[in-house]
Amino acid sequence: MSLSQMARSIRESVTLKLNQTAALLREKGEPVIHLGGGEPKSKTPIDAIVSCTSVLNSGDIKYTPPDGIPALKKAIIRYTEEHYARAVRPENVVASCGAKQAIMAALIAILDPKDEVIFPSPYWVSYPEMVKLAGGVPVAVKAEDGSFSPTVKEIADAVGSYTKAIILNSPNNPSGVMYSREFIAGIVELCEKKNLWLIMDDTYNRLVFDGRAPINCYDFSTDDLEQSRLIVINCVSKMYAMTGFRIGWAVGNREVVQAMSTIQSQQTSGPATPSQWAAAGALNGIQNSIEALRLTLENNRNILMDRLGAFPGVRVTRPDGAFYSFPDFSNYQKDSQKLAEFLLDKVRVVTVPGREFGMEGHLRISFCGAIKEITEGVERIRWALDPTAPNEIYLGGRRLVRDWM
Ligand code: GLU
Repeated sequence: MSLSQMARSIRESVTLKLNQTAALLREKGEPVIHLGGGEPKSKTPIDAIVSCTSVLNSGDIKYTPPDGIPALKKAIIRYTEEHYARAVRPENVVASCGAKQAIMAALIAILDPKDEVIFPSPYWVSYPEMVKLAGGVPVAVKAEDGSFSPTVKEIADAVGSYTKAIILNSPNNPSGVMYSREFIAGIVELCEKKNLWLIMDDTYNRLVFDGRAPINCYDFSTDDLEQSRLIVINCVSKMYAMTGFRIGWAVGNREVVQAMSTIQSQQTSGPATPSQWAAAGALNGIQNSIEALRLTLENNRNILMDRLGAFPGVRVTRPDGAFYSFPDFSNYQKDSQKLAEFLLDKVRVVTVPGREFGMEGHLRISFCGAIKEITEGVERIRWALDPTAPNEIYLGGRRLVRDWM
């Protein structure tokens, strides 16, 4: 087989793969608890369904402009004006097949071969691979103090002559940490000073807890939008629980947005027409589902923290938002891949190994599922790792006897 070097160097998205693993095991009747997934369980908002089905019922489903239908762009403009206090024009907006394609198109639009892209570690699994797909070189920066938030200085120290862009994701996948206003302000300032692009991945921006307000990165930018190298990414996937529709978008200066649209015109022709109408429906519709989801997630977070806090030997950082926690299990097993495989094999709990996010010893545990699944999942993990626990338990009606440790 003569696959390209690129194809051989790109790693599969483990987060997506584990969704399949969990689904296959469930199909076989295995009592799987999926704490690996990154999608809310709530249903698609009714306004999205109505908007989508009305275009489906028309039977007139044709190509759209590669950067999105005017109705969706109008809805995105309104969203941007409301949540970012920024007046933007249609030429500043490109709708994509999920946030993923928006980030990918942005990277292709701005990177030349060997250009470097910096992002804090832990990072979302797809950033390094996307940078590589766009011909660039990923540079992950870890906080020296072992926390999930490097300092502005640590990021600035990584900037070199090849650095072209920084990606920030706040609240962060996988840690749930929301970077401070000072940190985001510092990174915006750094990018403006060094003429770097800043890709602000705001996928989880609205899903924040403990009375926090979402941070608006434009608050710190002194540049006019057309001079700005700030590209803000959003999507309907998480805040409206519409992962399957695959609609995201980017807001940026018209030159980069035009380039991204041209790239999409050759790659996909643009996002699927019914999905665009669904996203427009969600953005224009009643917004209470976001707050309902946020409250559910905050409650799930609290319960998960109680359980993990009582788990001896596990170090946990309280997530500020999103629906991921990233506890450190290295007191039990330093190799996160081995640990995740062990937990899947022995107690049928799916987690994502920290290695995939650039941090060994950790597991990503999602808390977007049902409370019962979250608490039982943690119980199973605890039983599997605690040598003093009873030697047998019942799991999904089956007797499990410890044959390890
Ligand atoms: N973003 C989600 C996750 O991290 C969904 C899967 C993906 O696109 O990576 O689990």
